[in-house]
Amino acid sequence: MRVAVTGLGTAGAAVAALLHDLGHDVTVLEQAPDPGPVGAGLWLQGMGQTVLDRLGLLDALRAVSTPVDRVDVRTAAGRQLVAVGYDDLPGAVPALGVHRGDLFGLLQGAVGARGIPVETGVRVTGVAPAAGGLVVGTGVGHRGPFDLVVGADGSRSVVREALGVTRRDHPYGYGALWAVVDDPHGLAGGTLHQRLRGTRQYLGVLPTGSGRASVFWSVHQDRMGATLAAGLDAWRAEAEPFASGLEPLLERVGRLLPAVYRDVVVRRPSRMSGDGAAVVLVGDAAHAMSPQLGTGASLALADAWTLALCVGEAGRGRARLGEALETYAASRRRHLRWYQWWTRLMMPVFQSDLVPLAGVRDLAAPVVCGLPGVPRLLVGTLCGDRTSPWSRWTPPYTGRGASAPSPRSSAG
Ligand SMILES: Cc1cc2nc3c(=O)[nH]c(=O)nc-3n(C[C@H](O)[C@H](O)[C@H](O)COP(=O)(O)OP(=O)(O)OC[C@H]3O[C@@H](n4cnc5c(N)ncnc54)[C@H](O)[C@@H]3O)c2cc1C
Repeated sequence: MRVAVTGLGTAGAAVAALLHDLGHDVTVLEQAPDPGPVGAGLWLQGMGQTVLDRLGLLDALRAVSTPVDRVDVRTAAGRQLVAVGYDDLPGAVPALGVHRGDLFGLLQGAVGARGIPVETGVRVTGVAPAAGGLVVGTGVGHRGPFDLVVGADGSRSVVREALGVTRRDHPYGYGALWAVVDDPHGLAGGTLHQRLRGTRQYLGVLPTGSGRASVFWSVHQDRMGATLAAGLDAWRAEAEPFASGLEPLLERVGRLLPAVYRDVVVRRPSRMSGDGAAVVLVGDAAHAMSPQLGTGASLALADAWTLALCVGEAGRGRARLGEALETYAASRRRHLRWYQWWTRLMMPVFQSDLVPLAGVRDLAAPVVCGLPGVPRLLVGTLCGDRTSPWSRWTPPYTGRGASAPSPRSSAG
């Protein structure tokens, strides 16, 4: 099939490579003129690692990342609220802390190595039926026709809007200012650190591989401009009381950059046109969520893998494409719903103006986390492959779980 992928992000690059490997004729359209390694640290869960293993990228990823297998949540005053380790759940694959730019570089390399054409500086404006399939509108004319258009254009997806399937698209009031800093002495260790005061302020530190760490500072969008305008010294004065032991990392922050979050839900992630061509959404385009659980990239990679498995099962033409996309949607539904609900529940507890919730959180968290089975449940959810407390997501047609990348070598 002739396939257009809109967006060369985590999902777009992975799906382009996987569909190319099935023998399809893939073109990527990306709005950035010169897509490059930008962004903060990512916490990549075992499930995302499995997909990178399929692409032959896992060893290279391990070389530029750090295992992050502990979560340490404290109040700014140092009282421990949550302390869990991946060893609380036998068999759990430790997450990897990685610079988003490094992950992007690996995925972009996989696209380039396959010779997949990437048109950069092309902003997609819509998708429409035409003779022979679907055409993709851009600021500089149409591209196509295509048999399949994969909308991988992120949380503000134009393709999603063109499909008219959005059920919920809610910007969160709170976002984060972030920076990547050198951490040559490994102060952040193998731990995701979160230090909270109330629900309006929190400092996060994530080891990010290659001797670096990412620093996140929660702030309401309305106050981001003022925080940036006040300058780094004013920010450090506000953030340092949260940092005990991590102050040198804050000292190294040279620039803070803003990030905002959305909560997106779609009624269905695909639509067929009359002649059997189709549009399908993957990644944040289909289900943007807050990064509280650090699973967005892993879920985007799972979408890409599932779509490729379903399309692969359907064969090379359009004849069984509708069936493939039904299976894709059905396979992803419960998995995504679990993470959408969890992140939606956690957002007000960690980042909101509902300050009284913090009192309840600070009293209840240590007690709840001490209950038998709770650390296992938490780690299981963090692993990114749960569909309920008791069940795990299984990719279609594979007959096995998702969180088991090979211990050392890549599958290719
Ligand atoms: C501060 C922050 C921290 C996060 N931390 C984590 C974490 O620790 N772990 C984790 O797993 N996830 C995390 N996430 C979420 C994760 O980054 C996303 O879920 C993931 O990157 C989604 O990938 P994607 O490919 O769907 O979208 P994106 O990576 O956003 O890619 C979309 C691509 O589409 C392009 N594009 C957009 N519009 C158009 C258009 N009209 N035409 C052409 N191209 C277009 C964009 O330029 C971009 O290249 C975090 C997110 C934020 C904001």
